[in-house]
Amino acid sequence: MLPSRHLSRLTDLTEFPPLPNNLTWGGEIAYLDRDGVLNVGSENYINSVDELDVLPGAASAVARIRNAGFRICIVTNQSPVGRGLWDHERLAEVNSALQRILLEDNADAHLDVILYSPYVPWSNAWARKGNPGMLQVGRQIIDATEMDKSISEFDYGVDYNPREEGNSFMVGDRIADMKAGLNHGVRTFHCDQRIGVSDVIERVLDFSDSGDTL
Ligand SMILES: [Mg+2]
Repeated sequence: MLPSRHLSRLTDLTEFPPLPNNLTWGGEIAYLDRDGVLNVGSENYINSVDELDVLPGAASAVARIRNAGFRICIVTNQSPVGRGLWDHERLAEVNSALQRILLEDNADAHLDVILYSPYVPWSNAWARKGNPGMLQVGRQIIDATEMDKSISEFDYGVDYNPREEGNSFMVGDRIADMKAGLNHGVRTFHCDQRIGVSDVIERVLDFSDSGDTL
């Protein structure tokens, strides 16, 4: 069970917007959760654009991460799709609004790839965090796009052949995010869901500057 991708098929490789200052991408990815990281989360889900409340500092944090040379890959569990509460189109409206609001705030705050898991928790889907399926797929989409190669099949599941992640990292507000990051083999940063990514941005950038690897 593969994840879904915002407004695209997984294998569609559309060119990414350039990194700030025409930086060359060095192979590193910031895997970011959505709810509680970029926008205010809710136990009852974000059910419509009206309920979307982008966190202060989120756009600037995304831009700063890209300015440090990272591609951004959103990895978000969205079980209401699988529960039948609403459909992919409704979720796409919310994701599009999120991207628009971030870019209005900061022209460098592009979300290069937005992946979501539509599956219910009891599906045990590999695409659902704490499993690392979305990160595995995100890595391959970004690599293929950057290298201008097509994707016929994803390397996916327990037999995934790990790629070089360098200083790639995962930011999330829940245990499942930390598990997904660790299972994928990247450093993890836990943020306060009331503050979001700006809660950890200084630590994230210190880490990426340090040249440390796992
Ligand atoms: Mg979250």
